[in-house]
Amino acid sequence: MGEEGQRTVPDTKIVTALGDITRFPADAIANAANTSLLGGGGVDGAIHRAAGPELLAECRGLHGCETGKAKITKGYHLPAKYVLHTPGPIWHGGGRGEDGLLASCYRSCLELALEHGCRTVAFPSISTGVYRFPLDRAAPIAVEAVRAFCAAHPGSFDQIAFVCFDQRTRDAYDRALGRG
Ligand code: ADP
Repeated sequence: MGEEGQRTVPDTKIVTALGDITRFPADAIANAANTSLLGGGGVDGAIHRAAGPELLAECRGLHGCETGKAKITKGYHLPAKYVLHTPGPIWHGGGRGEDGLLASCYRSCLELALEHGCRTVAFPSISTGVYRFPLDRAAPIAVEAVRAFCAAHPGSFDQIAFVCFDQRTRDAYDRALGRG
């Protein structure tokens, strides 16, 4: 029973899940890409395998992406309608702007998702694999970036999920969310 003129918008649910992001039902999934956008190992390779060769063909036309920015493609054979490709920072010890670049990856993906009308978005743990960003430092940065974006865009998303490939990673995101 708010006062006249007040409106309540449902909060965005921020959740963690354990599993393979290529099978996760969301309007858009993020890809921890590299700056070439031409595929790689880890989650990037898994997304390209699951989406099919059409994804690489579309990515070739994007001419790469800067670290911390994002570009969108269709999802092809994935359950997701879109893929948000974002090159995370390579960890060099923390003195090369890695924290800010990592936060920027999450923001850039959510900007694109918003522009394309996505209500649900799934993220892998960007940069904490081959790029060696320390997990316990990355998770709070990711959570804070997502929370801040959702707070600035109330009612824009139904759910944002951190889809973690192993329990250690999920525990770190749960702790960052205050649910550890
Ligand atoms: P980066 O180069 O950004 O570090 P990686 O793909 O090497 O990217 O690792 C990022 C995270 O994605 C790691 O936690 C890794 O375990 C995880 N990962 C790998 N494959 C999948 C997948 N199919 N679904 C979700 N997460 C995945």
